[in-house]
Amino acid sequence: MAGEIKLEGVRKTFGKVEAVKDLDLLVKEAEFLVLLGPSGCGKTTTLRCIAGLERVDRGKVFIGGRDVTELPPSKRGIAMVFQSYAVFPHMTVEKNIGFGLRMRHSPKEEIKKAVKEIAELLQIGELLDRYPSQLSGGQRQRVAVARALVMRPEVLLMDEPLSNLDALLRLQMRAELKRLHREVGTTTVYVTHDQIEALSLGDRIAVMREGEIVQLDIPNQVYDKPATVFVGGFIGTPPMNFLTVQVKSRDGQVYLAGGDFSVEVHPEWEEKLREMVKKELILGIRAENIEVRPTVEEGALPAHVIVAEPLGSQQLLTVQVGNDILKVATNPDLTVQPGQTIGLVLTKEKIRLFNEETGKALKLE
Ligand code: ATP
Repeated sequence: MAGEIKLEGVRKTFGKVEAVKDLDLLVKEAEFLVLLGPSGCGKTTTLRCIAGLERVDRGKVFIGGRDVTELPPSKRGIAMVFQSYAVFPHMTVEKNIGFGLRMRHSPKEEIKKAVKEIAELLQIGELLDRYPSQLSGGQRQRVAVARALVMRPEVLLMDEPLSNLDALLRLQMRAELKRLHREVGTTTVYVTHDQIEALSLGDRIAVMREGEIVQLDIPNQVYDKPATVFVGGFIGTPPMNFLTVQVKSRDGQVYLAGGDFSVEVHPEWEEKLREMVKKELILGIRAENIEVRPTVEEGALPAHVIVAEPLGSQQLLTVQVGNDILKVATNPDLTVQPGQTIGLVLTKEKIRLFNEETGKALKLE
């Protein structure tokens, strides 16, 4: 439980803004947890409450089983890496990485050894004599990460550490951070608004909205089984498609009806949906879980093609079904013209149904 982090009813307001609302969260030892959400949802504030950079209004923060709520950052066993990798420009890489240990008055030889070890782990062992101005952005960010890790923190806190890097470097550093975490196993909390980064890095993802965690789960679950319409719409490129449907029943058979189409339901859901006949629901389906038929066959949804975009490994169609616009991922070799009417078949098992008023997923399984 050395690196376990527990937040109990943590609340933080700035004047009238409730940045974090009574948040409960348990980050397991050695876990890589991503806080994901749109701008202003309270990710950074949550991280700063863990770090001790913000004083919580109420609630408690535990690190490694210790109540650290009243402790300053330096006493919490944490290290942080920010978006602006504030390395000292007048110090060499070696001096930058060893800074914290020098402040702690660790013996010189020990510092040298620890710096060398961590620099090699981050593949900047050859750069120890350079100054930050002689490094690329990615290398500078590695220095910042090395400087945090050399302190052997119980917990590593990262706030959008890759957002100042260009796209290619981001990809490389993302893979590097993943490898690094596997090797050192430090409990990590990572803030990002980039859902791809979250899916790629997180052991679990906490999706935040307006100061609250709306879903906390492993990446595949968050992607496949979003807890709310908001999560389905926030995660995935393109986001999940949504259609308004009504539960109907004919000859004892339950189905979902839209404007000029109907969709069969998963047999296991029939019983629960039978109690909801006439109710409006939101049907969610991912672009890749819709099959395209060149004509509108029996059981297919008639869709009007608006745009066809070839994207290399796939072709993305924007289509209109009734009043709804959907994105459909299809084979790049399929010839589809704008203006054409095609048939769509939804993969039954991949359909997600949400309550129309609350936006919450129905519990059907
Ligand atoms: P971003 O991705 O834009 O950094 P975030 O999810 O990290 O967003 P926070 O920075 O935690 O969000 O902010 C949450 C809310 O609290 C926002 O409405 C923000 O304006 C407000 N806030 C944060 N820090 C302060 C502060 N020091 N004073 C006043 N309001 C603040």
